[in-house]
Amino acid sequence: MKGVRRTGTRPQGGLDRAYRERMSTFIFDLDGTIYLEDDPIPGARETLAALRAGGHDVLFASNNTALTHAAYEAKLTALDIPVESHGLATASRSTVTYLQTLASAHTLLVLGPPALTEELEGAGFAVRHDTARPIDAVVVGHDDAFSYERLRLAHAAVSAGARLIATDGDRHVPRRAGLFPGTASVAAAVEMACGLSATVIGKPAGGMIRTLMTAVGAQAATTVVVGDSIATDIAGAAALGLSSVYVLSGIARFQPEALTPTPTLMLPSVAALIPALRHTRPDLIAP
Ligand SMILES: [Mg+2]
Repeated sequence: MKGVRRTGTRPQGGLDRAYRERMSTFIFDLDGTIYLEDDPIPGARETLAALRAGGHDVLFASNNTALTHAAYEAKLTALDIPVESHGLATASRSTVTYLQTLASAHTLLVLGPPALTEELEGAGFAVRHDTARPIDAVVVGHDDAFSYERLRLAHAAVSAGARLIATDGDRHVPRRAGLFPGTASVAAAVEMACGLSATVIGKPAGGMIRTLMTAVGAQAATTVVVGDSIATDIAGAAALGLSSVYVLSGIARFQPEALTPTPTLMLPSVAALIPALRHTRPDLIAP
């Protein structure tokens, strides 16, 4: 039975339902949880492989828009971390999906990295770099070239009626050198200028996690979110009523976070995940 699962066939029928009820779904954040820039967190690969060998679903949800969805798949593969086509949710791809549900969002102003623009243009949206024509939506992502001029353009577009969308709620992102300002930091400047709040697509909003859970038929009682951010990963899990594991291998290396909401478990890194769950939540690690 487990061999059937690993080929990618989704379980069907009574016997498979019984199998489904014994397995858990693990949704991992990437930056600070699985890797720090291009360095895998020690033990991450082994933990993911062991979970897969146990028949559990291993999925990934990243707020980072610095690379395209396809580039994140390639990055995980290069790190020898297998990822199935339904197994990765990214804030940029989720933003595309959200915009596609809006009847009137065709022309965009993007405050974000080239990869976000590439993702949006690849889905057929017109990305403009000025406000000479009406803008339907301003999309704020991980804009590491943010400037007063970009803020001015976003302010002009939103003042003229454009929606304001933030790809995610990350205040900062961990890198080897420390914490760098993230999407929410840039979005806050635009929000302040415009006097309104952005619609947030990625974590802590629940869309990416729900999409992943739906893809594998996951149950809330046996789904665990693992991440290094209380404000996005753990808060996102709590809002959906899911268990969560807070790892100290990312943001907490540089800055302590208040433990609100409280994670189910707090660990040094994912390397400690399986032994800790066997001890505290054996129901989530079926033999
Ligand atoms: Mg992270």
